[in-house]
Amino acid sequence: MLLYIHVPFCRRRCGYCAFHSQALPDGRIPEVYLASLLEEIRRWAEALPRSSLDPVESIFFGGGTPSLLEAAQVGLVLEEIARRFAVAPDCECTLEGNPDSLARPGLLADLRACGISRLSMGVQSLDDRELAMLGRLHTAAQCREVVALARRAGFANLSLDLMWCLPGQTPQGWLATLKQACDLAPEHLSAYALSIEEGTPFEARSLAGELAQPGEAEAEAMFLEGRALLEDRGYAQYEISNYAREGFRCRHNLGYWQGVDYLGLGPSAVSTLNGRRWTDPPDLERWAQNVASGRLAEDPEAITPAARLLETVMLRLRTADGLPLAGYAALAGRSLLEDAGAFLGELCRQGLLVMDKKRIALTPRGMLVSSAVTSELFLRLERAELARTPTQGPRQ
Ligand code: SF4
Repeated sequence: MLLYIHVPFCRRRCGYCAFHSQALPDGRIPEVYLASLLEEIRRWAEALPRSSLDPVESIFFGGGTPSLLEAAQVGLVLEEIARRFAVAPDCECTLEGNPDSLARPGLLADLRACGISRLSMGVQSLDDRELAMLGRLHTAAQCREVVALARRAGFANLSLDLMWCLPGQTPQGWLATLKQACDLAPEHLSAYALSIEEGTPFEARSLAGELAQPGEAEAEAMFLEGRALLEDRGYAQYEISNYAREGFRCRHNLGYWQGVDYLGLGPSAVSTLNGRRWTDPPDLERWAQNVASGRLAEDPEAITPAARLLETVMLRLRTADGLPLAGYAALAGRSLLEDAGAFLGELCRQGLLVMDKKRIALTPRGMLVSSAVTSELFLRLERAELARTPTQGPRQ
């Protein structure tokens, strides 16, 4: 099982971000958050008998900005989890953080000492003009300093988050950021294209014509050339937006893509457990009230076998390992080639997909258009499902 802990606070909101978090200009986490989080852990441990759960193999503090927590607070949460759940001895404990808050004196060494084994840093760019445009609070120099501090504190598993397809960015600019990131020698890199999300300040600016993102040809060059550069520097692409050195794939995200159950804690956290999915209220007060009154899984939805099948196809096709044909057949009770063989053959001819006896996987060009490919594939799979569903006779 995976445990996700949402820390819904940031020093300041970035204009492009649609994740749930509230601005905390003084960086002080409200007391009710930590108390409710510990309570939520206790209540879930009581509600889920240990024997019904696989050991926790990953704990992920995401946000928001988890590096606003004090190390002692992170330690309390980890201790409570260890007391209440079976935790695998090699459990990966990741904490996301921003360079400005990670640079607080002593924090990194204390985080390492309390059990955090992996840091995921929100670097986003190593170009100060781009960082200012994104509204980030750190500079490129500060990113470099924090990587050095993290190494000195004993972190042997670092990930840097970067963004591409930024307004005004050129393929050369993106490749320059990637080279500098590789020079910092992290074990893992994430590279997400900026997407303009509904309701964000960036959406308003984009509609006003203030943010011109690179065109299709430039974006394609950024993705394909960026990928080639990273592979050349020893970072294997294992998911559309994720690259790692041998042995350093993010265990938590791999679990999501492989359909492992996860329990989410904290406001707005999503959980998927035993065939049901729910989301904690995206509101600190309402979430805390729910926890206090023991209302743990509000409005859970059952994941139907058909929904699970499509989700598996979508998630697996994001990964370089692709979708195992035997896995599809086990979930669907049918062969994928029977359901969509002609379409898959056409994708192979177009150079968007590779297929062998065991699996199908998108090529790098296919990953560029993964959303369109997945939607088209879904249409065919749904048609195949309908064709096999016995039709009901007319009502008498
Ligand atoms: S720091 Fe991260 S989570 Fe917070 S607003 Fe910025 S992008 Fe969103």
